[in-house]
Amino acid sequence: MRLLTGDRPTGKLHLGHYVGTIKNRVKYQYDYDCLFIIADLHMLTTKRSTQNIKDISGNARSAVLDMISCGIDPYKSRFYLQSGVMDIIGSIYFLMNNLITVNRLNRVPSLKDMANDINEEMPYGLLGYPVLQAIDILGYKANIVPVGKDNLSHVEVTREIAKRFNNEYGEVFPIPEPVKSIDSSLVGIDGKRKMSKSLGNSIYISDNDEEITAKVMKMPTDPNRIRPDIPGKVEGNTVFIYHDLFNKNKQEVEELKERYRAGKVGDVEVKKRLSNAIINYLEPFRERRREYESVDKLNKLIADGTFYAREEFYKTYIDVVNVMGYNKV
Ligand code: ATP
Ligand code: MG
Repeated sequence: MRLLTGDRPTGKLHLGHYVGTIKNRVKYQYDYDCLFIIADLHMLTTKRSTQNIKDISGNARSAVLDMISCGIDPYKSRFYLQSGVMDIIGSIYFLMNNLITVNRLNRVPSLKDMANDINEEMPYGLLGYPVLQAIDILGYKANIVPVGKDNLSHVEVTREIAKRFNNEYGEVFPIPEPVKSIDSSLVGIDGKRKMSKSLGNSIYISDNDEEITAKVMKMPTDPNRIRPDIPGKVEGNTVFIYHDLFNKNKQEVEELKERYRAGKVGDVEVKKRLSNAIINYLEPFRERRREYESVDKLNKLIADGTFYAREEFYKTYIDVVNVMGYNKV
């Protein structure tokens, strides 16, 4: 069974990405043939400026290195650069983009949000975002597609296109199943909004000890607790959300919660213990990172994965052409 998922190469990955998606990918690699897309062509829809495009190769390497450091095993899974197969997926896209209507795409909720975000009228290519994504998935004949909630509707579009193609021309594509990742987002260090690169409230997978400590020290706690001897609230408290997720010493967490509720511990101690816990949590991440840090190693890994993807996408392209009958003239 094949699995395809991935991201646009927009920069470093943070703890939100880890708990929201990457952690699951690490698990999936033992059960599926995983291919991870670095969706650099999808950048053109909303981030098409030269500035964004020129950072792509560095961002692609940093995304791959972050994923490896999270535990994705480059001997098990593959990474590919979408632009490295653009001739093939472009051809499949061209053959299949009449299998979905403009009205249907206009009803995809995430697209309106994306168009709003860029303050533009809907570009033609942005309307086709889910169609290009469908071709990524179908090109690999993926069976399983893990997605965040924004992308669930894109997999629905993919399924519709695949079914329509199979009915109209012949069975080529498995109908892919979406697997939805966790519903709740990790809150950022501001304690207000979800952790997001563009909001500047992230702890990055690659942050060093000092960066982590400085960020943890900035986290808000219970605002009503102006002195450490006032009993505090643990529920919904950012530092305790993080303790629950990243502190492996559960006993320490329980003790801290008890003391916090009783007004017997200061914020500084709670935070000190939290930054130590996160540093400790990320230690194995660093070890794996060290092994793959070289630009040459990463480039080779991406090139090998892209070469593999090319072969698989080309086979699909030939299947599509054959079943449609384009080779028969
Ligand atoms: P940007 O600021 O550029 O939007 P981002 O940091 O919000 O970047 P995205 O690229 O929008 O990250 O997110 C990619 C995927 O990572 C999401 O679909 C979601 O599944 C997961 N993800 C991102 N942020 C979080 C978070 N804070 N908690 C849980 N999952 C997250
Ligand atoms: Mg986002």
